[in-house]
Amino acid sequence: MLALLTSLISAASASYAGYASMAPTPQLYGRTLTHGSDPTQLALTYDDGPNDPHTRRLLDVLAKHEAKATFFLIGKYVRQRPEIARAIQAAGHTIGNHTYTHPNLIFVSAARLQQELGDCRKALEDAIGAPAPLFRPPFGGRRPNVLRTVRQLGMEPIMWSVTGFDWSAKSSDAIVRKVVSQIDSRRRKQGEIVLLHDGGHLAFGADRGYTVEATRVLLEKYSSSGQSSPGKKFVAIPELTR
Ligand SMILES: [Zn+2]
Repeated sequence: MLALLTSLISAASASYAGYASMAPTPQLYGRTLTHGSDPTQLALTYDDGPNDPHTRRLLDVLAKHEAKATFFLIGKYVRQRPEIARAIQAAGHTIGNHTYTHPNLIFVSAARLQQELGDCRKALEDAIGAPAPLFRPPFGGRRPNVLRTVRQLGMEPIMWSVTGFDWSAKSSDAIVRKVVSQIDSRRRKQGEIVLLHDGGHLAFGADRGYTVEATRVLLEKYSSSGQSSPGKKFVAIPELTR
Protein backbone atom coordinates (compact mmCIF):
# COMPACT_ATOMS: atom_id res chain seq x y z
CA MET A 1 0.00 0.00 0.00
CA LEU A 2 2.81 2.36 0.93
CA ALA A 3 4.62 1.45 -2.26
CA LEU A 4 1.46 2.14 -4.25
CA LEU A 5 0.98 5.46 -2.50
CA THR A 6 4.59 6.43 -3.07
CA SER A 7 4.37 5.60 -6.74
CA LEU A 8 1.13 7.57 -7.06
CA ILE A 9 2.73 10.58 -5.42
CA SER A 10 5.82 10.40 -7.58
CA ALA A 11 3.69 10.00 -10.71
CA ALA A 12 1.70 13.07 -9.70
CA SER A 13 4.80 15.13 -8.99
CA ALA A 14 6.45 13.94 -12.19
CA SER A 15 3.47 15.10 -14.19
CA TYR A 16 3.46 18.43 -12.37
CA ALA A 17 7.18 18.81 -13.14
CA GLY A 18 6.39 18.09 -16.78
CA TYR A 19 3.64 20.68 -16.75
CA ALA A 20 5.77 23.26 -14.96
CA SER A 21 8.59 22.93 -17.45
CA MET A 22 6.39 23.79 -20.47
CA ALA A 23 3.49 25.95 -19.23
CA PRO A 24 4.17 29.67 -19.16
CA THR A 25 3.20 30.62 -15.59
CA PRO A 26 4.34 28.03 -12.98
CA GLN A 27 7.39 29.23 -11.06
CA LEU A 28 8.67 25.84 -9.84
CA TYR A 29 11.99 26.34 -11.64
CA GLY A 30 12.68 29.87 -10.48
CA ARG A 31 11.09 33.21 -11.23
CA THR A 32 10.60 34.23 -14.82
CA LEU A 33 8.73 37.31 -15.98
CA THR A 34 5.21 36.37 -17.09
CA HIS A 35 3.40 39.73 -16.82
CA GLY A 36 3.70 43.30 -15.59
CA SER A 37 1.84 45.13 -12.84
CA ASP A 38 0.24 47.99 -14.80
CA PRO A 39 -3.07 46.94 -16.41
CA THR A 40 -2.91 49.86 -18.85
CA GLN A 41 0.14 48.30 -20.50
CA LEU A 42 0.14 45.52 -23.09
CA ALA A 43 3.38 43.87 -24.23
CA LEU A 44 3.07 42.23 -27.64
CA THR A 45 5.85 39.69 -28.25
CA TYR A 46 6.70 37.93 -31.51
CA ASP A 47 8.75 34.73 -31.72
CA ASP A 48 10.54 32.79 -34.47
CA GLY A 49 11.53 35.65 -36.76
CA PRO A 50 13.04 37.35 -38.55
CA ASN A 51 10.77 36.35 -41.41
CA ASP A 52 10.03 37.61 -44.89
CA PRO A 53 7.75 39.41 -45.67
CA HIS A 54 5.72 39.21 -42.45
CA THR A 55 8.18 40.81 -40.04
CA ARG A 56 8.35 44.01 -42.10
CA ARG A 57 4.55 44.04 -42.52
CA LEU A 58 4.25 43.80 -38.78
CA LEU A 59 6.68 46.69 -38.37
CA ASP A 60 4.45 48.81 -40.64
CA VAL A 61 1.32 47.94 -38.62
CA LEU A 62 3.06 48.67 -35.29
CA ALA A 63 4.44 51.98 -36.61
CA LYS A 64 0.96 53.19 -37.59
CA HIS A 65 -0.05 52.98 -33.93
CA GLU A 66 3.33 54.05 -32.53
CA ALA A 67 3.33 50.75 -30.67
CA LYS A 68 6.51 49.13 -29.38
CA ALA A 69 6.91 45.35 -29.21
CA THR A 70 9.49 42.67 -28.46
CA PHE A 71 10.86 40.20 -31.01
CA PHE A 72 12.54 36.95 -29.92
CA LEU A 73 14.66 35.98 -32.92
CA ILE A 74 16.06 32.64 -34.03
CA GLY A 75 19.82 32.99 -34.59
CA LYS A 76 20.04 31.03 -37.84
CA TYR A 77 17.36 33.23 -39.43
CA VAL A 78 19.23 36.32 -38.22
CA ARG A 79 22.35 35.02 -40.03
CA GLN A 80 20.19 34.51 -43.14
CA ARG A 81 18.54 37.95 -43.07
CA PRO A 82 20.39 40.30 -40.69
CA GLU A 83 18.89 43.37 -42.37
CA ILE A 84 15.43 42.43 -41.05
CA ALA A 85 16.83 42.27 -37.51
CA ARG A 86 18.34 45.72 -38.08
CA ALA A 87 14.97 47.03 -39.32
CA ILE A 88 13.31 45.80 -36.10
CA GLN A 89 15.94 47.58 -34.05
CA ALA A 90 15.80 50.76 -36.17
CA ALA A 91 12.03 50.93 -35.57
CA GLY A 92 12.67 51.11 -31.82
CA HIS A 93 11.52 47.64 -30.84
CA THR A 94 13.34 45.30 -28.46
CA ILE A 95 15.12 42.19 -29.69
CA GLY A 96 15.64 39.04 -27.62
CA ASN A 97 17.43 35.70 -27.94
CA HIS A 98 15.31 32.64 -28.94
CA THR A 99 18.26 30.21 -29.44
CA TYR A 100 20.11 29.48 -32.68
CA THR A 101 18.07 26.54 -34.06
CA HIS A 102 14.97 26.42 -31.78
CA PRO A 103 15.39 23.06 -29.96
CA ASN A 104 13.34 22.22 -26.88
CA LEU A 105 15.99 23.00 -24.25
CA ILE A 106 14.54 20.43 -21.83
CA PHE A 107 16.10 17.72 -23.96
CA VAL A 108 19.53 19.14 -24.81
CA SER A 109 22.91 18.63 -23.14
CA ALA A 110 24.62 21.37 -21.15
CA ALA A 111 27.12 21.85 -23.97
CA ARG A 112 24.40 22.15 -26.61
CA LEU A 113 22.51 24.59 -24.39
CA GLN A 114 25.56 26.85 -24.14
CA GLN A 115 26.05 26.63 -27.89
CA GLU A 116 22.42 27.45 -28.74
CA LEU A 117 22.41 30.50 -26.48
CA GLY A 118 25.90 31.66 -27.47
CA ASP A 119 25.46 31.21 -31.23
CA CYS A 120 22.20 33.19 -31.18
CA ARG A 121 23.77 35.88 -29.02
CA LYS A 122 26.65 36.21 -31.48
CA ALA A 123 24.32 36.32 -34.49
CA LEU A 124 22.32 39.10 -32.82
CA GLU A 125 25.40 41.08 -31.84
CA ASP A 126 26.82 40.80 -35.35
CA ALA A 127 23.50 41.95 -36.85
CA ILE A 128 22.47 44.76 -34.52
CA GLY A 129 25.77 45.65 -32.84
CA ALA A 130 24.32 45.49 -29.34
CA PRO A 131 23.72 42.86 -26.67
CA ALA A 132 20.23 41.32 -26.42
CA PRO A 133 19.64 40.73 -22.70
CA LEU A 134 16.19 39.11 -22.94
CA PHE A 135 15.61 35.42 -23.63
CA ARG A 136 12.57 33.30 -24.43
CA PRO A 137 12.86 29.50 -24.39
CA PRO A 138 11.56 27.69 -27.50
CA PHE A 139 8.19 26.02 -26.75
CA GLY A 140 8.40 27.60 -23.29
CA GLY A 141 10.58 24.62 -22.29
CA ARG A 142 12.82 25.27 -19.32
CA ARG A 143 14.48 23.52 -16.41
CA PRO A 144 16.63 24.77 -13.53
CA ASN A 145 19.85 24.30 -15.49
CA VAL A 146 18.40 26.18 -18.47
CA LEU A 147 17.37 29.16 -16.37
CA ARG A 148 20.67 29.12 -14.47
CA THR A 149 22.70 29.14 -17.68
CA VAL A 150 20.53 31.86 -19.20
CA ARG A 151 21.11 34.07 -16.17
CA GLN A 152 24.83 33.28 -16.05
CA LEU A 153 25.04 34.60 -19.60
CA GLY A 154 23.45 37.85 -18.41
CA MET A 155 19.98 37.27 -19.89
CA GLU A 156 16.53 37.37 -18.30
CA PRO A 157 13.98 34.67 -19.22
CA ILE A 158 10.67 36.13 -20.45
CA MET A 159 7.50 34.05 -20.56
CA TRP A 160 3.94 35.26 -21.25
CA SER A 161 0.45 35.51 -19.77
CA VAL A 162 -1.70 35.51 -22.93
CA THR A 163 -1.35 32.99 -25.79
CA GLY A 164 -2.48 33.86 -29.31
CA PHE A 165 -2.35 30.23 -30.56
CA ASP A 166 -1.46 31.77 -33.92
CA TRP A 167 0.66 28.78 -34.99
CA SER A 168 -2.53 26.78 -35.60
CA ALA A 169 -5.11 29.54 -36.19
CA LYS A 170 -7.41 29.26 -39.20
CA SER A 171 -8.11 32.99 -39.39
CA SER A 172 -7.00 36.32 -37.96
CA ASP A 173 -10.36 36.48 -36.14
CA ALA A 174 -9.53 33.28 -34.28
CA ILE A 175 -6.29 34.83 -32.98
CA VAL A 176 -8.05 38.03 -31.95
CA ARG A 177 -10.77 36.08 -30.12
CA LYS A 178 -8.21 34.03 -28.16
CA VAL A 179 -6.22 37.08 -27.13
CA VAL A 180 -9.20 39.26 -26.25
CA SER A 181 -10.91 36.53 -24.20
CA GLN A 182 -7.76 36.03 -22.09
CA ILE A 183 -7.15 39.74 -21.57
CA ASP A 184 -10.78 40.47 -20.68
CA SER A 185 -11.11 37.40 -18.44
CA ARG A 186 -8.31 38.76 -16.28
CA ARG A 187 -10.31 41.94 -15.75
CA ARG A 188 -7.29 44.08 -16.55
CA LYS A 189 -5.49 43.62 -13.25
CA GLN A 190 -2.04 43.11 -14.76
CA GLY A 191 0.10 44.17 -17.67
CA GLU A 192 -0.27 41.23 -20.05
CA ILE A 193 2.54 39.75 -22.12
CA VAL A 194 1.04 38.38 -25.33
CA LEU A 195 2.68 35.49 -27.21
CA LEU A 196 2.46 35.75 -31.02
CA HIS A 197 4.71 34.70 -33.93
CA ASP A 198 6.08 36.60 -36.91
CA GLY A 199 7.93 33.51 -38.15
CA GLY A 200 7.89 29.71 -37.91
CA HIS A 201 10.57 27.55 -36.33
CA LEU A 202 10.22 24.76 -38.90
CA ALA A 203 11.23 26.85 -41.89
CA PHE A 204 12.00 30.41 -42.91
CA GLY A 205 9.12 32.04 -44.80
CA ALA A 206 6.18 30.74 -42.74
CA ASP A 207 2.93 32.54 -43.61
CA ARG A 208 2.07 34.85 -40.71
CA GLY A 209 -0.52 36.95 -42.54
CA TYR A 210 -3.16 36.08 -39.92
CA THR A 211 -0.89 37.29 -37.12
CA VAL A 212 -0.18 40.57 -38.90
CA GLU A 213 -3.90 41.18 -39.43
CA ALA A 214 -4.76 40.13 -35.85
CA THR A 215 -2.13 42.59 -34.59
CA ARG A 216 -3.76 45.39 -36.60
CA VAL A 217 -7.16 44.59 -35.06
CA LEU A 218 -5.74 44.34 -31.52
CA LEU A 219 -3.93 47.67 -31.90
CA GLU A 220 -7.15 49.33 -33.02
CA LYS A 221 -9.21 47.71 -30.30
CA TYR A 222 -6.91 48.51 -27.39
CA SER A 223 -5.12 51.71 -28.38
CA SER A 224 -6.35 54.86 -26.64
CA SER A 225 -7.91 56.17 -29.83
CA GLY A 226 -9.96 52.99 -30.28
CA GLN A 227 -13.40 52.08 -29.00
CA SER A 228 -12.20 50.17 -25.97
CA SER A 229 -11.72 52.39 -22.95
CA PRO A 230 -9.52 52.97 -21.14
CA GLY A 231 -6.95 52.49 -23.87
CA LYS A 232 -3.75 50.52 -23.39
CA LYS A 233 -0.20 51.50 -24.12
CA PHE A 234 1.74 49.00 -26.22
CA VAL A 235 5.19 48.64 -24.70
CA ALA A 236 8.30 46.55 -25.22
CA ILE A 237 9.38 44.32 -22.31
CA PRO A 238 11.99 46.79 -20.93
CA GLU A 239 9.24 49.43 -20.53
CA LEU A 240 6.80 47.04 -18.85
CA THR A 241 6.23 48.16 -15.23
CA ARG A 242 7.21 45.27 -12.95
ZN1 LIG B 1 9.62 29.77 -30.90
